[in-house]
Amino acid sequence: MPTIIHARYTLREGVLVEDLAIVVDGDAIIDAGTLSELVARYPGAGRVGGDDYILVPAFTNAHDHGRAVGTLALGVPDNFLELWLGHLARLPSIPPYLAALYSGLQLLGSGVTAVAHSHNPGSWSALTDEIPQALRGYAEAGIRVAMHPPIVDQNHLVYAEREHFLDMLPPDLRRRASDANAVDFSADDYFALLDDLYDNFHDNERHRAHIQASPAGGQWCGDELIIRACEWARARRTRVQMHMLETRYQRIYARKTWGASFIRHLEDIGALGDWLTLAHVVWVEDEDIEVLAERGVGVAHNISSNLRLRSGVAPIAKMAAAGVPVGIGLDGQTLDDDQDFLREMRLAWTIGNQSGMAAADLDAETVLRMGTDVAADITFGADVPLGVLEVGGLADLALLDSEAIRRRWAPASYPPRELLSALLLRRSQREHVRHVMVGGDWVLRDGEHLNIDARDIEREIWERLTFEARSQPSRLEACLRKFYRSWNDGDLPMLRR
Ligand SMILES: [Zn+2]
Repeated sequence: MPTIIHARYTLREGVLVEDLAIVVDGDAIIDAGTLSELVARYPGAGRVGGDDYILVPAFTNAHDHGRAVGTLALGVPDNFLELWLGHLARLPSIPPYLAALYSGLQLLGSGVTAVAHSHNPGSWSALTDEIPQALRGYAEAGIRVAMHPPIVDQNHLVYAEREHFLDMLPPDLRRRASDANAVDFSADDYFALLDDLYDNFHDNERHRAHIQASPAGGQWCGDELIIRACEWARARRTRVQMHMLETRYQRIYARKTWGASFIRHLEDIGALGDWLTLAHVVWVEDEDIEVLAERGVGVAHNISSNLRLRSGVAPIAKMAAAGVPVGIGLDGQTLDDDQDFLREMRLAWTIGNQSGMAAADLDAETVLRMGTDVAADITFGADVPLGVLEVGGLADLALLDSEAIRRRWAPASYPPRELLSALLLRRSQREHVRHVMVGGDWVLRDGEHLNIDARDIEREIWERLTFEARSQPSRLEACLRKFYRSWNDGDLPMLRR
């Protein structure tokens, strides 16, 4: 039976409009119009919503790791990425099924119905088992997932000049560091795993799960591996996601290695296209923004993570103005450690508007689209109708508590219509998400998941966790800091911003 969903305001292409209701039947939106039109057209239809709500397309989290619990709470304080990464291997392990289930529940509570999951393997040898478990966790939560099994094949210890770095270490550390982080998983193993996952889980009809290739990051993967991943994905009409230019040291690495920017190098090897999404892209060079736009490369923007790991601020206003599709991702590192997608959009908007009258503007409408249709495009592909409340679109949506967001609007005629999107973006937070639908099914009503009590899952996770006492910042960390401190981008004339 069809359901009419209506609200005081409906978000369409980043703009809040009045009296736009939709009809959902099966897993799709089958009609749209004013409430009175739709009631006349579908006299037997159910009805959900009302004047107390704002109706929005559900959000897509364009880059995350599905860790369930933030790394800080697991004993790893925020730090520079290059120093922080070394501690990830020591995180207490949460079974992938539980981690994905709980991550999915957290995201649904934030109005997110689709997530890009970049998997951090508990161990490489277990990767083949971990991915199906994570897929099962997300499926049980009722959230869509673009799954990114990772692969790396180089530069595990430092991005370049490994021998020089090892020479800097005292002998005992040198011995340990030289064989640390070895990856026992070949490219052939990886593509066999991708084939298997693709055949068993890639869902081209209902789009509950997509399997995508993920060379984990430019500096950690050789050209051959990156090219093979792109070819694998293109042959199957799926996508590639890769960490890229997250820190200034990655940018310097590209210059040291090829005498060219990272983006220029990817262009040279034929690895740029509209099937690719790059996560972070903080240290992109101005002239390369045009290249990304021309090639249709997606960018997943992770503002909180970039701040917490001291990476910097990505020029998203400039990228968006140039036509680069930028979507928002949480990276499991939101400002308040709460996976609040609405606050993340607010932060991206606020910091994205940079100082100086010559700076590009970033308006609320653009940022709301970065969380909805654009995020969905760069995560599942533009041919999958997610992130829009249009006839023919998949029925993924959220109803937000309009009164809670409105709280101080007065008099009744205020605010002017053109400021509505800005007010929504300035004030909304995860507590305002009341009802969430995924593919025509309600999964959250009145802020509660219909089938699963997230508190039970949370308890189960904490009961299983065992912590090792954290050592003082390690000696290796101090050496890494000294090593990268000597990588000075001021010495490279083309690297100014
Ligand atoms: Zn990431």
